[in-house]
Amino acid sequence: MITNRVKKEIDNDWEVQSKRMVQISKDACKGCGICIALCPVKILEFSGELNNKGFRFPRITNEEKCTKCENCMIYCPDFAIVVSKNAK
Ligand code: SF4
Ligand code: SF4
Repeated sequence: MITNRVKKEIDNDWEVQSKRMVQISKDACKGCGICIALCPVKILEFSGELNNKGFRFPRITNEEKCTKCENCMIYCPDFAIVVSKNAK
């Protein structure tokens, strides 16, 4: 169950990145690496930080190369990535 505090943290997390094409909720991530493995242009990698659960989470290295294929969003088991096709 998501408490109000957790929901607020998640909302803030998304809001900070709202202008990005690929938005990653670091605290929703469990560090499985599926998104990194399935990105066809290999622009996702683990950051050097840990999230609030102690997992490494991905970061995008070169957003300009993103093809907007949505693999990362579709296959993330924790719904931690959103690809905004209309982002500039
Ligand atoms: S949308 Fe596709 S190309 Fe862009 S980061 Fe995700 S998997 Fe990689
Ligand atoms: S697929 Fe989702 S849970 Fe797995 S590393 Fe990527 S963002 Fe985290």
